[in-house]
Amino acid sequence: RYDVVEQGPPIEVFQMNNLFLNDSHQNKVNLTIGAYRDENAKPWVLPIVRKVEKQMAEDSTLLHEYLPVLGLEAFTNASVAMLLGQDNPAIAEGRAFGVQTLSGTGGLRIGAEFLNKQLHYTTFYYSNPTWENHHLIFMNSGFTTPRQYRYWDAKSRSLDIEGFLEDLRNAPENAVIILHACAHNPTGIDPTREQWERIADVVQERKLFPFFDSAYQGFASGDLDRDAWAVRRFVERGIELVCAQSYAKNFGLYNERVGNLTFVLASSKQVAPVKSQLTWIVRGMYSNPPAHGARVVATVLNNPALFDEWRSNIQMMSTRVIQMREALRAELIKLGTPGSWDHIVAQIGLFSYTGLTPAQAERLVQHYHVYLLRSGRINICGLNPGNIQYVAAAIHDAVTT
Ligand code: PMP
Repeated sequence: RYDVVEQGPPIEVFQMNNLFLNDSHQNKVNLTIGAYRDENAKPWVLPIVRKVEKQMAEDSTLLHEYLPVLGLEAFTNASVAMLLGQDNPAIAEGRAFGVQTLSGTGGLRIGAEFLNKQLHYTTFYYSNPTWENHHLIFMNSGFTTPRQYRYWDAKSRSLDIEGFLEDLRNAPENAVIILHACAHNPTGIDPTREQWERIADVVQERKLFPFFDSAYQGFASGDLDRDAWAVRRFVERGIELVCAQSYAKNFGLYNERVGNLTFVLASSKQVAPVKSQLTWIVRGMYSNPPAHGARVVATVLNNPALFDEWRSNIQMMSTRVIQMREALRAELIKLGTPGSWDHIVAQIGLFSYTGLTPAQAERLVQHYHVYLLRSGRINICGLNPGNIQYVAAAIHDAVTT
């Protein structure tokens, strides 16, 4: 019966990661997968997470009972407050709420499913390029019409804002627009505040529906409020939206699948029916979410002292990323590598779209055992003081041959 099943294509990022793991070259460098690495190229469990987990291990009041279908309220409420800001009027007015989800991916999936099944939205727009999973998630949720909006201008290695706005202006009413809240993946380029205002203008004029994807709050700039600026500004302008939040990066809880889907409605009247329909969607998919990671996050977000400790943990990560951007640019300038490398420091977050061509990327992999995606995307925190000169020299060679 399984004869009909054909081999599916590999997932590039995991495939490259496996090639890296199986490579025995001593200078190999992994710039593929989107996870934080410390300066010794090792995964890093945030000290705040270790601390809370130790307390939890001793806490006999924590049981393994099911969570409610929409998740742990101490977690979802704190997540909404972290995204919108504690004092946001939408919270006080009871028209903002959260649903616990299986990390950011699960939030996108539940949100898309809801928009398709309940509001009958069928068209979605994603940036060109975007995180490669957006397309699949929305198609699997019942959306039928995928469209791209322009984003990366390869020539200037910056945002094509005019192309972006023009594509939005041509979008049909109720098209869902996926927007990266901060630290755009894969380019690392975010709109400026003025550009966000222009995007919001078109969203309002054309009656589009913004779906924010917030996978890097705090991780991007080190400042939770700054990284949430765009979402908050849309809310302030009276725009209804949803936002998928991930705690994979900013808490380093990748495998615990901790996420929240924030809804901001125009009025509190519809909150109960919307929540009831979301309950049925979750019920039919996985019934209820896991507790461990949500408890860790809720404990930290709801305790001012722990919250401050967490903030210093994220600042450490974001500072290291920013330093590595500067170091890579400095090395390339020192080597006299042709072209401008300013975009590496202008970009933000885990990733840099280097502007390397697929052939140059291939050369880095084959000749230098430096692993990156074919698009030229690198994970900046794969760089460290021990390998930065090696990587810069490899890039120099790839660009000049
Ligand atoms: N959106 C974007 C843009 C991402 O980069 C990621 C992480 N790679 C996610 C969503 C979701 O990741 P997760 O499901 O692990 O939270």
